[in-house]
Amino acid sequence: MHRLLARQVRKLGMKAHTPPDASQWAVLLDKISDAYQQADNDRYTLERSLQISSDEMQELFQRQKATTEGRLQALVNALPDLVFMLDEDGRHVEVIGGDEKKLFRPIAEIKGHLLSELLPANTAAFFRQAIRRSLQNSCLELLEYTLTVPVGRRTFEGRIMPTGLKVGGRQTVVFVARDITELARSRDELEHIATHDALTGLPNRTLLDERLRQAVARARRRRNYGALLVLDLDRFKQINDSLGHQIGDELLQEVAERLRRACRQEDTIVRFGGDEFVIILEDLQVESAAAGAAQHILDAFGEPFRLAGFELEVTASAGICMFPENTPRDDELLRHADNAMYAAKDAGRNRYAFYTEELGGNALAFLALESRLRKAIDDAELRLFYQPQFRLRDGALVGVEALVRWPGAQPEHRSPAVFIPVAEMSGLIEPLGLWVLEEACGQIVRWQQAGFDFGQVAINLSCRQLNNPLLAERVKHILARHRVDGSLLEFEITESMVVKEGGIAHANLEAFNGMGIRLAIDDFGTGHSSLVNLKRFPLRRLKIDRSFIDGLGEDSNDEAITSASIALAKQLKLEVVAEGVETETQAAFLRRHDCEVVQGFLYAKPMPAAEIDWRFAPNATLGRGSA
Ligand code: C2E
Ligand code: MG
Ligand code: MG
Repeated sequence: MHRLLARQVRKLGMKAHTPPDASQWAVLLDKISDAYQQADNDRYTLERSLQISSDEMQELFQRQKATTEGRLQALVNALPDLVFMLDEDGRHVEVIGGDEKKLFRPIAEIKGHLLSELLPANTAAFFRQAIRRSLQNSCLELLEYTLTVPVGRRTFEGRIMPTGLKVGGRQTVVFVARDITELARSRDELEHIATHDALTGLPNRTLLDERLRQAVARARRRRNYGALLVLDLDRFKQINDSLGHQIGDELLQEVAERLRRACRQEDTIVRFGGDEFVIILEDLQVESAAAGAAQHILDAFGEPFRLAGFELEVTASAGICMFPENTPRDDELLRHADNAMYAAKDAGRNRYAFYTEELGGNALAFLALESRLRKAIDDAELRLFYQPQFRLRDGALVGVEALVRWPGAQPEHRSPAVFIPVAEMSGLIEPLGLWVLEEACGQIVRWQQAGFDFGQVAINLSCRQLNNPLLAERVKHILARHRVDGSLLEFEITESMVVKEGGIAHANLEAFNGMGIRLAIDDFGTGHSSLVNLKRFPLRRLKIDRSFIDGLGEDSNDEAITSASIALAKQLKLEVVAEGVETETQAAFLRRHDCEVVQGFLYAKPMPAAEIDWRFAPNATLGRGSA
């Protein structure tokens, strides 16, 4: 080292006879020491490596005695590291020390050579860049790199520090290389364990966030699409519970394998937990490609799973949220895809559903509500309530309106005003409507047997029902089965439903008329029926909408509409029913204008059949609502 330093000193332009200066050593070693000490968080300091105290080292540096040189050299050689001095071009101007065994060649061979002569081009370039950065910013550069050496592939950690010394007019750095292969291996193993699912070997949710963030950024940059797909096995719990966890685990492993085969190499498949998987699909040129990919993934479940002698048919449901469009916030993506997955399940499982901005939560809420309603109909959870109608003149009970109730629904869905439109749009109104009719007929028979005079039972018909060419036939059939006379029924339809003459709806209305069923126009005033239309159909009653009754005594518009409606009904020879009467003021107005029938909370709320029986006593008079 003495010789090396002498040469170094010469290169630095010092006179040949200048005695080797310990301060030169001190500078270099200082840098090495800095390189260690500055490595943040890492207690990997020179003192530690050398197992000497700071004080002792200070002393070593400061004493600057010739004897120190030898000792310092010994210390450097004792380092587990290779220490080089490189110039800005990447030339090994000095090999300060280290373990030749780690270098796999004599240290002397390296000296004077460029990095590019000793290392693969990529690695050499990588080092040169780091040297440049270190010199430019006067800072420590930390690198991790792998090299293939005679004993195999090894991982190294490199630390680069500027020395502040020039050699041959070029800046220099100290380069310390340490073999961290074992450390890196256990670190990587730990990292793998922390980020992967032990059962399936797939990445786990800790990796998802980062991968998703990168995928969204890439899609933005490349101006294409990605899709986040949440996939959940259908009825996995049943399999797990009935066949045991062992088989459940095997099933999950096989699912992971099939997913791997169904996806592309670059797609990320994550086991999110339980039987839920999340897949990030990237590089989709058109949005519809996500649908194709989703179907392909679901098709992977087409073949039965053969596990421990069982042949299991397993399906999955998937929810998809496209990005980058649907990502006002990246963390919403997963929630959207998850909701879409539940919608797919609600819509009957073994399918996928998209989250889309336009439909947004409404479409999902609609699908979810639809499936709950379907279940409620199947499980006979619906109930029919009845709201009495009274003749205003003498308080006699003249009829009841049947109104469907869904007691088990979530509070926000409990109103028929919410779930009837869903039933209407989804087609569920057909089974629901038939159930209402059956139920009402059954009740009519019970009331008849009990000797109650209930007038007639009004039933609401929806637009879809009315336009079903089979409706009249079905109604006839149900009436016949219960032996109920058509005159005991009234069908309520809304103005907007009374459409074309000669159409299916018209034919149905005629048929009902033929069966003696009375017809009423519901919610009158809210649609756009023309007088001509009203005259054309065999109507018997007109129900003024609750929204007009509401304003009686307060709003002159509502009063004008109500009185005009009553006058119109009289001219058309229709009976008028005022709906939603809540106050005495409203009742007084209606009495003054000669409205015939009233229905509203002032008199009675809709209630179960059992609660209104007493009202059918022959002398029933206007009573107060009880339910
Ligand atoms: P609708 O046929 O106009 O029924 C009258 C609605 O007004 C009922 O609401 C009733 O509870 C309510 N109501 C009656 N009196 C008062 C009152 O004094 N104050 C207030 N605030 N409300 C009053 P409901 O039961 O929520 O039904 C809403 C709508 O749902 C019904 O309007 C009807 O269009 C539809 N619907 C209900 N049951 C059926 C059914 O079985 N089939 C069909 N197709 N539609 C139904
Ligand atoms: Mg009604
Ligand atoms: Mg109404």
